[in-house]
Amino acid sequence: MSPLVASAPGWVNLIGEHTDYNGGLCLPVALPQRTTVSVVARTDRALSLSSAQEDGVWEGAVEDRPDGWAAYVAGVVFVLRDNGYDVPGFDAVIESEVPVGAGLSSSAALECSVATALAGLLELDLTDRAERRRLAAACIRAENEYVGAPTGGMDQTIAMLAEPGHALLLDFADGSAIPLELPLEDAGLVLLVIDTRVSHALTDGSYGDRRSECAAAAEALGRPSLRDVPLDAVEALGDPVLRRRARHVVTENLRVLTSVGAIGDRDWSALARLLDESHTSMRDDFEISCTELDLAVESARAAGALGARMTGGGFGGSAVALVPESAVPQVQEAVTAAFARDGHREPAYLVATPGDAARVDSVS
Ligand code: ADP
Ligand code: MG
Repeated sequence: MSPLVASAPGWVNLIGEHTDYNGGLCLPVALPQRTTVSVVARTDRALSLSSAQEDGVWEGAVEDRPDGWAAYVAGVVFVLRDNGYDVPGFDAVIESEVPVGAGLSSSAALECSVATALAGLLELDLTDRAERRRLAAACIRAENEYVGAPTGGMDQTIAMLAEPGHALLLDFADGSAIPLELPLEDAGLVLLVIDTRVSHALTDGSYGDRRSECAAAAEALGRPSLRDVPLDAVEALGDPVLRRRARHVVTENLRVLTSVGAIGDRDWSALARLLDESHTSMRDDFEISCTELDLAVESARAAGALGARMTGGGFGGSAVALVPESAVPQVQEAVTAAFARDGHREPAYLVATPGDAARVDSVS
């Protein structure tokens, strides 16, 4: 049989960090970089998985529960089967342009490419947004329950629902996902992603700590979540750590809303200021930045970026900067030089032109 090829994008969050599991708002953008999976259905229940990014081939059955990278694929198979789909055995070959562990969600790109390929084999209707949402939910469950990474769901939602040229305003209180045109190129601007190459590990506990602290802050405030909590109530919290955590979440939601207005007005310097303020909030109140992320942000700004912030879960990964296209080379040079001066690994760069959602690329 000839293969079915499907792909899904990595993504970068423009603004709205650690808001997803707090019933809040965020504004992600799909990357042009994608993970592609080539799948051939089998007549038995065997799975054979290989990836250009990993050594060896994982072989087992659709019911098996592997560890390591194969768990991201098997997790999707497990959840789809648990949802009642008769997923057959298959051979899958994976290839990715999304940097792994850079906070650009190679894990969701992998899950969503596999879910989309299986949706293709099962002839599900991928033009139906509700179907795409069900697949995103299956991938979220695969990552949370099967792999055991307590991520909030933004990753898989953007990978399944993105539109080219648009950011996506996600509201985790009502589940809405509204595309928002992001015509940066008309203003001669790009989103430059700076991968610090400091690997973050979502399973190492710090992410879970922040989730628990936010839940504790909401409980202390007598609220179901930190959404729509007035800032003066936050400032009255007795515990200084919970106060700082809640202050980040509440002000970050406001910054997302203000960013939506700035993008609508094409007021790019206002957007840049909000990126800067978001970084300060994550560094000082949420305490999820690190030396390399702070350096990336500061040296990018000094070399001509209009604004910059760390993006993703924190403790490493990437920063995102709003940069005049003509200044991209000088910003990259300056950040690279600052990293070399301070003895850090050489950073990597990519330009995040807003890309397309997961899709079936070819059925032959
Ligand atoms: P991020 O999603 O930010 O890139 P994660 O730690 O969430 O980082 O996910 C990275 C893990 O996902 C890798 O360690 C690997 O197990 C798996 N993974 C991602 N992309 C691939 C790929 N192309 N091939 C095999 N495994 C992958
Ligand atoms: Mg991930």
